[in-house]
Amino acid sequence: MAHEDCIFCKIIDGEIPSAKVYEDEAVYAFLDISQVTKGHTLVIPKTHTKNIYETPPEVASELFKRIPTIANAIKKVYQPIGMNLLNNNEKPADQSVFHLHVHLLPRYGEDDGFS
Ligand code: 5GP
Ligand code: ZN
Repeated sequence: MAHEDCIFCKIIDGEIPSAKVYEDEAVYAFLDISQVTKGHTLVIPKTHTKNIYETPPEVASELFKRIPTIANAIKKVYQPIGMNLLNNNEKPADQSVFHLHVHLLPRYGEDDGFS
């Protein structure tokens, strides 16, 4: 169910536009508005959950089992030489949007902007 005032729920509902990378019944993936590296993508469950602490195992499982497919789709389009997966939980750990998300950060070498 969409969570009031959650920007990622609004993105899932199409109320806020986004550049879709992948979508199915459980998961939505889209380009991060602030591209740390080319192809920087966020993968989110369609079920609103604040962060990893509050995520039911089934929701985490459905999310993570799709990541290889999404990572390979990004790899095919952007042809990075590596990729980081990143998940921030709570403000002290740099979480700024409180709907669970995994960053997929394609890497292109030393000067690609992510350190
Ligand atoms: P966090 O810091 O919570 O791990 O990551 C949140 C991410 O969401 C940030 O990298 C930020 O750029 C991205 N973001 C915030 N608002 C929007 C938005 O409206 N659209 C998109 N595509 N990304 C967003
Ligand atoms: Zn949400």
